[in-house]
Amino acid sequence: MSDKIYVLDASAFIGGFYSKKVSNFTTSDVILEIKDIKSKLFLQSAIEDGFIEIREPDPQDLRKVEEVIMSSGDILRLSEVDKRIVALALTLKKDNFDPIVVTDDYSIQNVLKIMKISYKSILTPGIKALVGWIKVCKGCKQKYPSDSSLEECEICGSPVFRKRIKVNKKMNKNR
Ligand SMILES: [Zn+2]
Repeated sequence: MSDKIYVLDASAFIGGFYSKKVSNFTTSDVILEIKDIKSKLFLQSAIEDGFIEIREPDPQDLRKVEEVIMSSGDILRLSEVDKRIVALALTLKKDNFDPIVVTDDYSIQNVLKIMKISYKSILTPGIKALVGWIKVCKGCKQKYPSDSSLEECEICGSPVFRKRIKVNKKMNKNR
């Protein structure tokens, strides 16, 4: 069994997430992406305390991610930073880790799904306080925010329905 680790994107840090039980990884450009002072300080102290490690993906893994994005068409829009996060998960997988990417970004989640890399989303505290609901696609199970006006899934076109979720339970798991 390989060790479970988290790969964090900017939305994870903005949501105040990292694990104290398993290792957390991110790339240097994610750190540069974070602009607001509160998240920056949070991140800084987590790095100083040794909870977050900065690593860069292997160039060949980045190329692999780019190939997948190209062959899956224009639905998937990822920034350079996003691509590098997905690639870092691949790189860490080669190091015999079992990476779980922590992101609230649907485009990143879609690419991860195609590449069979695990992910989890942390809903931002604002959303968490407001809703115990989420919208889910009947076909591909893609999740959307509960306030989304979508009737049909952006990915597969199936109907989207509202579903109750236990946000708090999910949030605290694996911490
Ligand atoms: Zn769908």
